[in-house]
Amino acid sequence: MPIATMGAVRTMAPHELEDIQTSVDPEAGQILLSNTYHLYLKPGEKILQELEGIHGLMNWPHSVLTDSGGFQVFSLSNMATISDDGVDFRSHRDGSLHHMTPERSMEIQSAIGSDIWMAFDQFPGYPATVEQVEASVIRTSAWASRCQNWFKQYMKSRPAGSHQLFGIVQGSTYSDHRRASVEQLLALNFDGYAVGGLAVGEPADVLYEVLEMTTPLLPGDKPRYLMGVGPPEQILEAIKRGIDMFDCVIPTRNARHGNVFIHSTEHSDKLVEADLSEARYSKLNIRAEQFSSDSLPLDPDCHCQTCLAPYSRAYIRHLFTVNEPLAARLCTVHNVHFYMQFMKEIRDIISA
Ligand SMILES: [Zn+2]
Repeated sequence: MPIATMGAVRTMAPHELEDIQTSVDPEAGQILLSNTYHLYLKPGEKILQELEGIHGLMNWPHSVLTDSGGFQVFSLSNMATISDDGVDFRSHRDGSLHHMTPERSMEIQSAIGSDIWMAFDQFPGYPATVEQVEASVIRTSAWASRCQNWFKQYMKSRPAGSHQLFGIVQGSTYSDHRRASVEQLLALNFDGYAVGGLAVGEPADVLYEVLEMTTPLLPGDKPRYLMGVGPPEQILEAIKRGIDMFDCVIPTRNARHGNVFIHSTEHSDKLVEADLSEARYSKLNIRAEQFSSDSLPLDPDCHCQTCLAPYSRAYIRHLFTVNEPLAARLCTVHNVHFYMQFMKEIRDIISA
């Protein structure tokens, strides 16, 4: 899922994202991720409701998953105060005081009108003590139950399956607490399960260990979603450990800094080894001096609009040098296409 935190995949129009996804894999479902916390602050629930939610706001006819806002409340806001009821926090925008609860998160996600909602969870921080993690798991389960109650009531008057609610597993790096979190969430029977509290600065081997202790406990017939990951090789390793869904800012954020993903020179045909053993790619920082007169496209083996045009490395580097927003946009188109192509190749290998 590309990330449209505030209702836009930065620098890219929704129809451009649709074009990329369609050109890479016309059979695949299209989905993006947006964020409850940010959309709650701006444009706010009232405007979202008037415009028929985020689908109307963005004119995006495909699926949207919204993060619950839990992570942002704890990581972005000033002075978050947590109680069993919810969280008091100050907006990172204007310092205004807000109260977020599991029920409010559900109400806001209903105003956003997203297709997949996330339960409001408590991230314990990283690293976290065993006491902090235990408290976070207990609270996350209690809040998940309140979200599920609200959601079931809401869905009584709507077509079954028209919205889905996922629970978020916490437990940090502690296997006992990951297991407890999974068991408590499974009892609530969510439509899918996310592994949360990762991609927060832990080493890759810790990430893989947590997945090995967590994903086998989650039902294989429901989506398993790893939040916030990551570089291509970590996505591949997570898929091998049972993960189905991802979101990450890396393709878009890196693009805005001129960091682009390309086919590796030795293996220009595929981005993934046929046995899923390795992601095959290289990275360029297109702002480097060495590209100042390079007439090649970013990646001669890429079929994105930036590379097909083709716009040269020298042109894109020049655009960065003169702070032209088109530079970020051309690289964003390329990197999002790269990630979509990478995932498509993995899906094809799994299908085969
Ligand atoms: Zn490209």
